[in-house]
Amino acid sequence: MTLAGLVAVFWAQFAWVRPTNFGGYDEWLLISLVSKGVVAFPYANRPFVLLWTLPAAWLWPHDLRSFLVMESVYLCFSAVLLVALVGRLAPRLAGIAFLAGVVSITWAPVDALRLDTVLINGYSGFTFATLLAILLLVESWRRDRPVLLALGGLLALVTARGFEGVVPLLAAAPALLMAWRPARSRRLLVWLLAWEAVVLLAAALAVMPFAGRAGAGSYQGSALGGLDLHPARVAARMGRLYAYHLVPLVSPSLEELARPGAFVAGLVFLAAFAIAMRSVTPPGPGARRPLVWLAGCGVALAGLAYAPFTLSPAVLLTRRTQMLSAPGIGLALAACAGLLATMAGSRWRKPLLAAAGFWVVTVGTARTIALQGEWDGWRSVYPAQHRTLVQLTDQAPDLEPNTLVVLIDDGPRKAWPATFTFRHAVDYLYEGRALGLVWRGEDFLYPAAFGPQGVYCSPWPVIRQAWRVQPTFHGYDEIVVARRGTDGALRLLAGWPADVLPALPPGARYDPAARVRAGTALPPSRRILRTVAPGGVAGVVSSAAMPASLLDGTATARAIKEELRAPIASLAERGVRPGLGVVLAGDDPASAVYVRNKTRACEDLGIHHETALLPASTTTEEVLAVVEGYNRRADIHGILVQLPLPRAVDADRVLLRVRPEKDVDGFHPENVGRLVQKRPRFVPCTPSGIMELLVRNRVEVSGRRAVVVGRSDIVGKPMALLLLHADATVTICHSRTRDLPSVTREADILVAAMGKAGFIRGEHVRPGAVVVDVGINRIDREDEARDLLDEGRRADFARKGYALVGDVHAPSVREVASALTPVPGGVGPLTIAMLMSNTVRAARQA
Ligand code: NAP
Repeated sequence: MTLAGLVAVFWAQFAWVRPTNFGGYDEWLLISLVSKGVVAFPYANRPFVLLWTLPAAWLWPHDLRSFLVMESVYLCFSAVLLVALVGRLAPRLAGIAFLAGVVSITWAPVDALRLDTVLINGYSGFTFATLLAILLLVESWRRDRPVLLALGGLLALVTARGFEGVVPLLAAAPALLMAWRPARSRRLLVWLLAWEAVVLLAAALAVMPFAGRAGAGSYQGSALGGLDLHPARVAARMGRLYAYHLVPLVSPSLEELARPGAFVAGLVFLAAFAIAMRSVTPPGPGARRPLVWLAGCGVALAGLAYAPFTLSPAVLLTRRTQMLSAPGIGLALAACAGLLATMAGSRWRKPLLAAAGFWVVTVGTARTIALQGEWDGWRSVYPAQHRTLVQLTDQAPDLEPNTLVVLIDDGPRKAWPATFTFRHAVDYLYEGRALGLVWRGEDFLYPAAFGPQGVYCSPWPVIRQAWRVQPTFHGYDEIVVARRGTDGALRLLAGWPADVLPALPPGARYDPAARVRAGTALPPSRRILRTVAPGGVAGVVSSAAMPASLLDGTATARAIKEELRAPIASLAERGVRPGLGVVLAGDDPASAVYVRNKTRACEDLGIHHETALLPASTTTEEVLAVVEGYNRRADIHGILVQLPLPRAVDADRVLLRVRPEKDVDGFHPENVGRLVQKRPRFVPCTPSGIMELLVRNRVEVSGRRAVVVGRSDIVGKPMALLLLHADATVTICHSRTRDLPSVTREADILVAAMGKAGFIRGEHVRPGAVVVDVGINRIDREDEARDLLDEGRRADFARKGYALVGDVHAPSVREVASALTPVPGGVGPLTIAMLMSNTVRAARQA
């Protein structure tokens, strides 16, 4: 019954998760390796790292859903193990045990990687295996069964040799035996020595390579980027990880909570809770001691899981940490809810526990849905990778043995950043007959060189034996070159692309047609391509017909803001709180809204802010006095003068008076000059936010044609400069530009910043271009709404009487472009995020 309840609650949340959440680097590597039964990452000194990923490949081969299923199995069984463990530690607190199980699988609020089911399978497996090993230790003690101890020890060793991050948890596990208040005895000594000897062995094996030569083991070293063991800073990082895990519980986003799916998950929990608690008495005042002990255990378990990630200042985010610490946090939260319940009258105890669980499940599901939205919007590289692979296997159903597919990726978003990713995808889909190489891709693990006879690839020696990969040589007549165009479509090239690749040596022959075999039965591995991501298509893809994907500014802005929490916390360690001083003069309602949004973002991040409100009748001198005041204050690091200022105020004089070191809007002539000279200090927030959006969505800028429509000082000009500095070939258009469509159609990247609702239409856009819509225009006419809004938004328009639209006519541009920023939810949130970023930077540099 407990299991059924846990599974039901878990699925009410995880039903939102797609198996196509691909970060882009590791997934095809893992799929390919486990399909061959490989479980070791020798370069990371992790001989069993893929052990827990392996079952997905066996269970349901060539189907991404198997990873989702196995992830669910691991997490649900982890919850069951936690329930069992709590049952052993505090046998009379069954309700708290159930609640701890539920929280442990529904509450990992900022760990987006938890939804990357292919990559994270192993980590959920480690969580499960660690809990199982700990439970075996506890059981072996309770029943006095050395066999269980041996089993637990073996499992602990294997798990720690897959992921050394579980060592602190395992090392501290014997402390749980305190629950039985064991007397000092020979048996206790034997148990402790046996267990700790195993853990010590695992730790020594993990640490040894660091002490020796570079090579195996140095992978984690480079990822950690150096240790910092200063106790205060380690403690601060630990505190930060707890905060990442716990604070979203008390500051949920109302927008996220409005999703019905979150509420439904909460209701499923209530039903499961009602059934599980039917015959259970909730804890009363007598249970306070065991509850405090359980809460302490939970906090300690979570801390031990975070511990490896606190050793380096380079580990700023929570990626993968919330997975392993979730059981500890689940236990701590459930015990705290229990303590709260003990303070209420007996009638209210169950409802209180139910309400606590309902809240965690609802907010946790809302977070999961929001994180899935990020994957769908900008995070997942699967649609682009899938499209490449479908087109490749469509144009070359089979390849002659020992073929090398060389990929030139000119796509709008780099789908294949590393050779190892593409190599393993090709290897997998052609079942070993072909390998892949990405021209100018990262050559981690598989360096290759073009020589006089052909291409020589020399895998790192450390992986050769374990992965059964040997150096390879492909003559030029064994190569097929595929090019992913700017429209994202893949074409096999009939002729050698000497404009990109080194010229063919004299006498060398390139003959791709001879490598392609048609009409053969498709290998079963191809079934994996049937999994389609949102917006993707299975089978033959016609590139022109693909609607544009959305470049989700809201999600990118959220990511930027999340990344600011760590530097803000480290400033706090130095006793510094970033401060933003705002000047809002006049009564322009739009300005008031913009300022409110900016100050809200400050509050969310813990940035101090204050706003000087001045009447529309204010004078230049009065505004200057406020600016001067901000200039002098040490606790104000950034100054924002909201434009437009009232007409009587000399805006140029005011902007000139802002100290350049505090000019977080980047409008001061000194900062503009520095930007022109490519020595920027503060860059205007809207264009710098757009650059972040492009970079984070892997839109390649270098060498591409960019057209900016608009030449204002705050958007158009700095935008053009930033694109130029990123090596684009840039054209700026304005109201005097002749034949605008012929210019904009040249753009691979088109930025519309003109302040004209829906002006840029399909005919302005080259197929496959990336279009950034900066405009924010208010429309209130019915005919405009019919032309510019799709049906969903028209209902909203009818209700409110107005709508905000961009400078781009989304219905027509969407059909032509490869990617488009929406309005609202595109550039706007990025501007605010970059203002926050500049303010934090100003504080760090103060
Ligand atoms: P602006 O100062 O009014 O500048 C508009 C520019 O567009 C001018 O350079 C103008 O050319 C050009 N333009 C106007 N009509 C044109 C046409 N028919 N063909 C070609 N070019 C034309 O506006 P802005 O401050 O740059 O803002 C532009 C838009 O972005 C507005 O909708 C604004 O609300 C929005 N915006 C959004 C954000 C955000 O956070 N999302 C931030 C700032 C601005 P001339 O120079 O020849 O007049």
